[in-house]
Amino acid sequence: MSDDACTTCRRPLPACVCDRVEALSTTRRVLILQHPQEQDALLGSAQLVVASLPRAQLVIGLSWKNLAHALGEESVDPRRWAVVFPDREAEAGTVTTRAGATLDVTKLDGLIVLDGTWSKAKTLWWRNAWLNKLSRITLAPKEPSIYGRLRAEPKRAYVSTLESVGAALTLAGEPPEVEASLRRLFRTLVQRVRDAKLAPEALRLPKRTRPPRSPRPASGEPAT
Ligand SMILES: [Zn+2]
Repeated sequence: MSDDACTTCRRPLPACVCDRVEALSTTRRVLILQHPQEQDALLGSAQLVVASLPRAQLVIGLSWKNLAHALGEESVDPRRWAVVFPDREAEAGTVTTRAGATLDVTKLDGLIVLDGTWSKAKTLWWRNAWLNKLSRITLAPKEPSIYGRLRAEPKRAYVSTLESVGAALTLAGEPPEVEASLRRLFRTLVQRVRDAKLAPEALRLPKRTRPPRSPRPASGEPAT
């Protein structure tokens, strides 16, 4: 990136929000798995999560043998971790084990979030079979993503990694201020990117007041 980039977050200086980052302590850990091609230097929110949460960790790659491998640790109990799974069809706020039993969400040691667009996240999902053996936290976003029109994401259920982490932490029993602070930081980033007109042209969608409410994908959206 150019000379005008922040040395900490590597964003262009007008979009840097390092001045707003505050350390937010949590009991639970967060592991973000990021596809190597998903490093959005401008709007990526995983970096904000890691900068804010001392107990969060970001690893970049395509596949890991298991949770311990991804964390770079030996003594990890995968039964006390859950992977966040955004799914608007499912009942929100539930944690299901692979056997279908429900789990006390407050007993979790950590949460795993796949960073990126659906297609990249799907790739990570299929390349890491161990993820399927973990419990799942299902989130159904209540409101459209803070990204707004800055990101051309075909699914309404898509929210940023930061929004997913925040919602999952609240669900797991962390103080709601953690989620609120994360969201505030992200809104500041989106606002600064907008104000500086830094969003790539391709990501500026045609103006419309509301996303379509049709239950089926609108024309032009890729089928899954
Ligand atoms: Zn910065």
